[in-house]
Amino acid sequence: MILIGLGANLPSEGYGAPESTLEAALGLMAERGVSVRRCSRWYRTPPVPMSDQPWYVNGVAAVETGLSPASLLNVLQATEKALGRARRTRWEARVADLDLLAYGTQIIGDHGRTGETALAVPHPRLHERLFVLIPLVELDRHWRHPILGKTAADLLAELPPDPRIKPFGA
Ligand code: ADP
Ligand code: MG
Repeated sequence: MILIGLGANLPSEGYGAPESTLEAALGLMAERGVSVRRCSRWYRTPPVPMSDQPWYVNGVAAVETGLSPASLLNVLQATEKALGRARRTRWEARVADLDLLAYGTQIIGDHGRTGETALAVPHPRLHERLFVLIPLVELDRHWRHPILGKTAADLLAELPPDPRIKPFGA
């Protein structure tokens, strides 16, 4: 399974509210050879690290593509750009953040060195993030982390819960 993490906490000029912008991201990805099989609901999540930024909208999508992991990351970055993301510093508010969470069972890159720009898969911080694990558990609670050997549900159970994180409409 190929998994993409989607996040946004600013409206985009072209597509409006963060959730509309992320819906648009799924469409733009499809045009670029990445077809979305399933997507979680959108969740409202507090910014990490904690700050006075607006809350995020986050979700996880399962996609199919013939692209390599590196080419897929290029598509994600091109899509962020098309949506209007200006890449400046990490963790700043953004109109779209598209992360390659997992590419089947492949392990790529050096997971000891965080904060690198070189591709690392599974995403090195996936298992620390409620905003990834909560939608991922909705999508497939049995998904297994290729390095840690634990399921999405196991990883979520290891983190302190945050009852503020809820899907839209809940
Ligand atoms: P973050 O997603 O951590 O908030 P950015 O979106 O600005 O921050 O990405 C930081 C860098 O992480 C990018 O330069 C990108 O090349 C790199 N990167 C490495 N592995 C991945 C991955 N699996 N998914 C997305 N970006 C990745
Ligand atoms: Mg990113």
